[in-house]
Amino acid sequence: MRVKVPCVTCANVTDPKKYQLKLFDGELDDVGYVHVSCDKGHQSIVVYDSRRYEVLLQSASSALLEGYANEAISTFSTALERCYEFYIRVVLRSRRIAPEQIEKSWKEVAAQSERQFGAFHFLRLLEHGEPLKLNPNIAKTRNSVVHRGKIATTDDASKFGELVYTRIKDIEDSLNKNENDMEAEQKHEVASQKQQVPEGVEYVVLKAFSVKVDPATNEVVGFPDTFQEYLASVQRGKETGWSA
Ligand SMILES: [Zn+2]
Repeated sequence: MRVKVPCVTCANVTDPKKYQLKLFDGELDDVGYVHVSCDKGHQSIVVYDSRRYEVLLQSASSALLEGYANEAISTFSTALERCYEFYIRVVLRSRRIAPEQIEKSWKEVAAQSERQFGAFHFLRLLEHGEPLKLNPNIAKTRNSVVHRGKIATTDDASKFGELVYTRIKDIEDSLNKNENDMEAEQKHEVASQKQQVPEGVEYVVLKAFSVKVDPATNEVVGFPDTFQEYLASVQRGKETGWSA
């Protein structure tokens, strides 16, 4: 996924009073790095502190905004699957399960999303005493697009995105009671990302998040509550770059 980011070296060597933020096109890779080559020839890395499901949600929304409805639906669906994984990992961490045991068990389900969903479903029940309310249209739309090759409209993709966004928000809300373990899991992910930065390459860790802007004043007024607010935030990010 292409994103706009600043050059880390320029930001480090320039007097902060004289530094003017300039953004460059970079490519986000699977480790969560954005590789930046600036116009002065510096090569640096921005470590994207964002969960995989958040990155996929952003990528799906971007595809939707550009009119790629099928691509948006399949990526929204993957974002949801990775959100289930994040939930499972945080809950297991909160139950003090050793990381190597989690990895060992995850390997058994890594290639089967239905098994992962099953694990999520019952862990969520165990944690909250009732299952998460599920909208059957998510599986229906996903299957018709991914398995049967239905040509989706942007309206289909927008409705699907809304359902997925709402479910991801519900899962995030479910994790409120595990806040410390959620932070620990995030830190663990970022630490492993940092470890993989090649020696000698300058990097910075940037927290990517979306914000809600009041269109009348153009001021940041909080975080997006609805899918439409989130989409507007992704649209602004595409136009103006990092964390806009
Ligand atoms: Zn530079």
